Amino acid sequence: MFHQLQYLAALSFVDKRLDELEEDYGDLPVIVKQLQEKLKTQKAMVEETSALLSEIKQFCASSKITLIELKNKEEKLSKQQFLVRNNKEFDAITKEINYLREEHTRLTDRLRTEAVKEENLIKILDAQQKELAEIEEELAEKQEEMEFVASDQNDELIQLKNKRAQLVSFLNKNSLMQYERIRMFHKDAVVKIIRNSCSGCFSSIPPQKIVEIRNNLDHLFFCESCGRILYPEDMIVEEKKLISV
Ligand SMILES: [Zn+2]
Repeated sequence: MFHQLQYLAALSFVDKRLDELEEDYGDLPVIVKQLQEKLKTQKAMVEETSALLSEIKQFCASSKITLIELKNKEEKLSKQQFLVRNNKEFDAITKEINYLREEHTRLTDRLRTEAVKEENLIKILDAQQKELAEIEEELAEKQEEMEFVASDQNDELIQLKNKRAQLVSFLNKNSLMQYERIRMFHKDAVVKIIRNSCSGCFSSIPPQKIVEIRNNLDHLFFCESCGRILYPEDMIVEEKKLISV
């Protein structure tokens, strides 16, 4: 029969190792997340530019057809003009021809500005796509690095997680809650009393309290100075003895 304090101390060891493994990743997880965000933004930009560009292309294509149609109409009307029977008809056709010519000029001008826009957008899209490819490449690189670290520690990680689950199952709700609360301030939430001192902050522990701790291993005692959970020097904490993993 083992005690809460023993399970807690073992859990603290397991968590310490898990923290170390997480540190192996360094700032990789943060970088990967940032790159993923950057990729999303860049993709949206590329999509937006592409949509604008295809809109302009469509406009230019249809405008070119319209220009031909305007010219054809004008030619047809010019031929008709020779066949008119009176001035009134002649004037009406002239008016129409003028309108068609104005339309043609207006559309030609518009087409010219749109062509400049198109040219600029093609350059912008090209730069955006290059940057997108760079981000993708960098992200893939970082993800590969992360996978490398993960595969390196995979076996140990599974073992540690199993151990942790077992240890947690032996702890009562209050012990676990206290432990997790202290973990928010101190990664090593459970520490040994070494030579009558807390090994977390080195403040001394009264001998009377040490005796009390030793006799109540299912009760939690906290360092009055740093708040860590204390356990006596001679207590068995090796998880091999505590759990079957
Ligand atoms: Zn302390």
